[in-house]
Amino acid sequence: MKNKLTFVFLIVPFLFISCRGKRNSFVSSDYLGTVCSVSTFDNYPQELFVQLDGLLKKIDSLFDVNNPGSEVSRINRFAGIEPVKVSREVFVVVDTAISVAQISDGAFDLTIGSAVDLWGINSRNYKVPGDEEVESVRFLVDFNQVEADRLKGTVFIKKEGMKIDLGGIAKGYAADCAAELLGTYKVKRAVLDFGGNIYLYGKKPDGSPWRTGIKNPLEKNQIAAVVDGKENISVVTSGGYERFFESDGTKYHHIIDPETCRPCENGVLSATAVGPSSIICDALSTAFFVGGESLAQKIIRTEAYRDYGYIIMTASENYRLDVCSENVMVSEN
Ligand code: ADP
Ligand code: MG
Repeated sequence: MKNKLTFVFLIVPFLFISCRGKRNSFVSSDYLGTVCSVSTFDNYPQELFVQLDGLLKKIDSLFDVNNPGSEVSRINRFAGIEPVKVSREVFVVVDTAISVAQISDGAFDLTIGSAVDLWGINSRNYKVPGDEEVESVRFLVDFNQVEADRLKGTVFIKKEGMKIDLGGIAKGYAADCAAELLGTYKVKRAVLDFGGNIYLYGKKPDGSPWRTGIKNPLEKNQIAAVVDGKENISVVTSGGYERFFESDGTKYHHIIDPETCRPCENGVLSATAVGPSSIICDALSTAFFVGGESLAQKIIRTEAYRDYGYIIMTASENYRLDVCSENVMVSEN
């Protein structure tokens, strides 16, 4: 008992001191299957960083498909059975995912879960499935089968066996939430990098733009283009060159074409979405990767997405871009 007490006293003063300290950065590899970092430049109370950690922990626990206790796993378990009451966080992400699935004609499709499982993408037990297996999951990918009821706060997958996977949008949502938290602490500026999902928050002190380099997918150490953004701008890239596996000399990456339920093969090497909301950019970058430039053009010509832009790098051409916002400029490096 005496030993236990000593332990408690040793711990408490330490927490007290660290809560009073100030910091300007946060890095964690515990959440969302990636490294999440926030740099605030100026110092802020330790409490902000404790809150950031709590926020990411919560988001991770809600969306993790590998955790049977997560809300997303629960929605999947009740597919074809009944609607599931969900948290505000999960509702917002599902609802946004459905909107992007609609505008992208299903290039981004949140019901990609069964295909993602088949290729072992989330479990990292990558494998090449047989043609019949691939055929058997094609009818389990259709975003029209998901109902999000705003009044009841429920999500329902109408088809049994169908699964949602929000891995292509959750990091962006987390970045938006983290930026909002920075706002409540009156943080002036910060760079958030959640596994390559970048959010440039506030303005640089000297008024110069934030600069983000977009890698050349064929020469990973080279920057092919630079995005200059004035303030509050997200830059998100989906690429097949960072997460992939090889089997019999063929490379397979982690972005699936919902039409074929196979890793997308359309000549796009990387697709970047730029705009004010990170959740939208995250979903759009996946959609642009699958649908290519014609889809990207169609989407950014739509009123609701007019502040968004794209940079698409293909195997055949150098790169294609169209960035509409006055807040952003892109140049070749
Ligand atoms: P990353 O997560 O590597 O940044 P993305 O944002 O493009 O890349 O998301 C890829 C993830 O999204 C995959 O790991 C998978 O979980 C899921 N996914 C794969 N293909 C699609 C798709 N066509 N639509 C929606 N989500 C997808
Ligand atoms: Mg994405």
